[in-house]
Amino acid sequence: MTEFSARTRAANLERMRTEPFDVLVVGGGIVGAGVARDSACRGLATALVDQRDFAAGTSGKTSRLVHGGLRYLRNYRFGLVRRAVRERDLLLRNAPGLVRPLPFLIPAYRDRGPGRVILRFGLFLYDFLSQEKTLPRRSWLSPTEARQREPQIALEGLAGAGMYHDAWTDDSRLVLAVVQDAATAGAVVANHVRVEGLNRTGGRVAGAQLRDMISGDSFTTSARFVVNATGVWLDDLRAGQATPTLRPTKGIHINVPRAKIGNRHALALTARRDGRVVFVLPWGDLALVGTTDTDYRGDPNQVVPDAGDVAYLLEAVNETFPAAHLGPDDVISAYAGLRPLLRRGGAKAETDISRDHAIFEDRDGLVSITGGKLTTHRAMAEEVGDLLARRLGRPGASATRDRPLGPSNHPLEAFMDLGFDEETALHLQRRYAPEQVQRHLGAPSAAERIVTAMPYTWVEVDIAVLEEMAMTLGDVLVRRLGLFYETSDQGVRIAGAVAERIGGLLGWDSQRTERELRAYEDLAKAHQAFRVDHGG
Ligand SMILES: Cc1cc2nc3c(=O)[nH]c(=O)nc-3n(C[C@H](O)[C@H](O)[C@H](O)COP(=O)(O)OP(=O)(O)OC[C@H]3O[C@@H](n4cnc5c(N)ncnc54)[C@H](O)[C@@H]3O)c2cc1C
Repeated sequence: MTEFSARTRAANLERMRTEPFDVLVVGGGIVGAGVARDSACRGLATALVDQRDFAAGTSGKTSRLVHGGLRYLRNYRFGLVRRAVRERDLLLRNAPGLVRPLPFLIPAYRDRGPGRVILRFGLFLYDFLSQEKTLPRRSWLSPTEARQREPQIALEGLAGAGMYHDAWTDDSRLVLAVVQDAATAGAVVANHVRVEGLNRTGGRVAGAQLRDMISGDSFTTSARFVVNATGVWLDDLRAGQATPTLRPTKGIHINVPRAKIGNRHALALTARRDGRVVFVLPWGDLALVGTTDTDYRGDPNQVVPDAGDVAYLLEAVNETFPAAHLGPDDVISAYAGLRPLLRRGGAKAETDISRDHAIFEDRDGLVSITGGKLTTHRAMAEEVGDLLARRLGRPGASATRDRPLGPSNHPLEAFMDLGFDEETALHLQRRYAPEQVQRHLGAPSAAERIVTAMPYTWVEVDIAVLEEMAMTLGDVLVRRLGLFYETSDQGVRIAGAVAERIGGLLGWDSQRTERELRAYEDLAKAHQAFRVDHGG
């Protein structure tokens, strides 16, 4: 795929106005993107829309892990873990440029779980459940060996540590890759398009009213089936649903300088306060720490971390890394996401609730899918695809199990040969193909850094706009580049210059540029509110 831009989007909107579809997927998080990919790969005429950007919902606010969920073994959820481990292994094989192995250390302390014996058994099972054995096997470390690997972890009460492997990804870019692959397979996709209502013929859903959130225009599209993959917004589209399907909980993450903690690996810690698992994950020079799990009843469009959430995570890290002395001022960025958890005993799902996700078929034909994980999206999408193919009388198997996803791994030299220093080349290597970067190097300052101290270059803004359908300043800085998370001002200082560049490519007038800047500053401010709560 080369061009995937505002122009592509405009052409796709025109097709949505005029062409009938077999399937309209509502929601461009990982689940909707996965369903659109599965459906397009089966040859079904497919459309996909998101009211904001791809991955602007929960799918861009995760722990960025592709994992089986070792902790679920504590609750004997073997089926769930086996399924996730298999999908993890498939992603490692099919998406090597996006999903990478991650060594984990999980210390066992005498004064808090998990117990040494349970942990060792859990790790044995975790390895056992992986069929492909793609990742290195687990090992057990004595307290001394554990401290050799992680010199900063507390020694007192340390009973040993397990070493095992899972995988990490950039969640927003994974979603984007799935959307782009859906488009390559023929899906007609657009971000910033909201479904405002469903159209019915003879009591059956037959399409939807859409609104282009950039221009404000509204129009209708027709589809034989509509798939509701709207995450925590699921109930908004389900008519006549007496009890809500979901009970969202909030989970937050913080980024802190890794040097402050001194961790070398990813760690799964146990919080002394409540026995929950808290991850500390390497993210370049930063450590990503998460997550919390608290009930949430507020507006799903306004979910941000608060001071209490942040304090909980800092406390958990300080317990195991006593020399870190982390405080709120060390936090570079924080974000919050909502888990679309199924309300137990609520509406009956077609699939077994213990599988962690559910597919609902309403009387009007609307198909809804929710729950699951970033990791298991493909398998969830396959189930929906099977259902759609049956209902449409177009039987056939899913084609995504062995289908490559995202960029392949390219040698570092290919980027250094373009004239980039090693740090920048390493950064680019994680995201793009060399020829993709090369295509845009003729633009002014393309190879120059956006922020002197960081390896982000202007060419990435151009790629985001021209090849990744970024439509707003937030699309670029939050989800395509991620500078929002990596700078302590959330990128506000450079936002003006970035907006100018995007505006140049998209033809923004000064009013639009100003609006984009204000919206971005508001977003940054909302995500910094925990500092104010703290008196910081
Ligand atoms: C804190 C946290 C950490 C997590 N960490 C991990 C992890 O490390 N690994 C893992 O595998 N899983 C993880 N998960 C689970 C995983 O992130 C979610 O299960 C998954 O992202 C849900 O995806 P989704 O597509 O259902 O929802 P979403 O990503 O929220 O997508 C729904 C989309 O629908 C759109 N939408 C809503 N209404 C409309 C409308 N009317 N018209 C058009 N579009 C609409 C929204 O804008 C949104 O983009 C985590 C979850 C949380 C909360």
